[in-house]
Parts: sequence; structure tokens; C-alpha cells
Amino acid sequence: WKKINTNNRSNDELYQMENTYNQMIDRLNESVNRQEQFVSDASHELRTPIAVIKSYAQLLKRWGKEKPEVFEEAIQAISSESEKMQHMTEQMLSLAKNQQRENLLFETINVVSLTKDVIRSLSVAYSRKITLFTEIQQLDFSADKEKISQALYILIDNACKYSDDEIHVSIDRLDKELQLSVKDFGEGLSESDAEQIFDRFYRVDKARNRKTGGTGLGLSIALYIVHAHGGDIKVKSKQGEWSIFTIHLPY
Ligand code: ADP
Repeated sequence: WKKINTNNRSNDELYQMENTYNQMIDRLNESVNRQEQFVSDASHELRTPIAVIKSYAQLLKRWGKEKPEVFEEAIQAISSESEKMQHMTEQMLSLAKNQQRENLLFETINVVSLTKDVIRSLSVAYSRKITLFTEIQQLDFSADKEKISQALYILIDNACKYSDDEIHVSIDRLDKELQLSVKDFGEGLSESDAEQIFDRFYRVDKARNRKTGGTGLGLSIALYIVHAHGGDIKVKSKQGEWSIFTIHLPY
């Protein structure tokens, strides 16, 4: 931050400085509002698991010694709710880190082998058929390997969570961009949900009921990562039939 000196400035210069200064104030205000909103959303999301843990702890205190069934139920609930909170706090940290472009570590990566690695680990984790379609054998690309893997992981992980069939992944090179697409044949998204799923903590109602242990943060993290690389993520979907999430990266 530098103090400005308005001595000996012409009216034109002063007008220019006022404009720049006001733009900076607007951006600062926006950023503060975003931070405040995030803290408020995060507290709201953490409140539920904390309340559940608290009430089961009280139950344990009262009945835990006499009733083994209460003991079992309480221990199970406390452990699953604390796992949820751990996952959520890890994702919040990841979101905070990924908001800064300076954190990227650019190197030359082979996108095809990176994609194969992500597919391998998720097809084992979910025992799911995930097929890669591409005519490219090797493609060297400058990006942060860990971050791009994380973004792709989030999209394929979602495809596994919100569908039950085979998943198609494709890599295409266009004139000036690289596209990584993930298609699933699951529940799909309505138009209005498709517009909101990249918002922090947003989950479609069905997803909340599905017990997937989601936080509504995955897609925001993926989008920050891709934006930091100068790209974008687009979604197309037919409700009840399929969804395609595509990462566009400038080549
Ligand atoms: P999470 O999966 O942890 O809930 P995300 O930010 O990754 O959070 O996704 C937000 C919401 O978008 C999900 O809760 C789900 O409702 C919806 N969604 C994401 N991916 C898909 C998909 N492939 N098919 C249908 N719905 C999806």
C-alpha cells in the first residue's frame, strides 16, 4: 500500500486518481463481503454436525453406561459426524489455498497419463467402469500437475457419486484449447441447479438425501483451480439422463 500525494496534480490527473481509487475501494469491499459470506456459510454448515455431536455426547453421558445400544449408536454418530467435519474443514482449506494464483507450481505435464492415473484410482475406489476416449497419445502441457489432477478428480468423483453406470472421460485438443470432459449417465441437473452448483456449499436436494457425504465445495474448488490456469468449466445436462462437465484450458 502506498499513500498518494495530490500536490501539484492537474485536474485531469486528480480525476484519473479518484477513478482508480474508487475502483480499488469497490474491489476491496467486494472481497470483504465475499469473505464475510464465506465465514457465515461455513459456520452455518458446521453448526449441524456440531449440534449432532453435542446431543449424542449428552445422551452418552446420561445413558451410555446402562444401555449398550445407546452407546453403540452414539459412538457411530459421533464418529461419522466428526469425519464429515474433518472433510469439510479440509475442503475449506483447499478452497482458500486455491483462490491464489501465486500458489500454482507450473511444470510440463503429460495430460494423458495424468488423466489415466486419476481414472485408475477412482475406478478402484468405486469399482466402476471409467473409460477414456482420446486420439491423443501424449500431450505435454504447462500446468500445476497436482491441482489439475485435483480438479479432474473432483469431476470424476462426482460422476461416480451421482450416477451408477459407466463413466466416459475424453481428452480433446482444439485449436487453442485443451478439453477434458467427464460424462455420466446419472440423475443429471435441472437448468437452475446447473447454474448454481459451482456456488460454495450448494447441493441439489437429492444429493443431500443421497448420503454421499458431500460438502457442496468440490466444484467451487475445481473452478478456482481451472480459473487460476486461465480456463473454465462448463456443464451440460439432460435431467434424469446425463451430465457432461468439461474443463477448458488455454493451450
Ligand atoms: P458435493 O458433491 O460435495 O456435494 P460439489 O460442489 O462437488 O459438492 O457438487 C455440488 C452439487 O452439484 C452436488 O451436491 C450435486 O447435487 C451436484 N452435482 C455435482 N456433480 C454432479 C453430477 N455429475 N450429476 C448430478 N449432480 C451433480
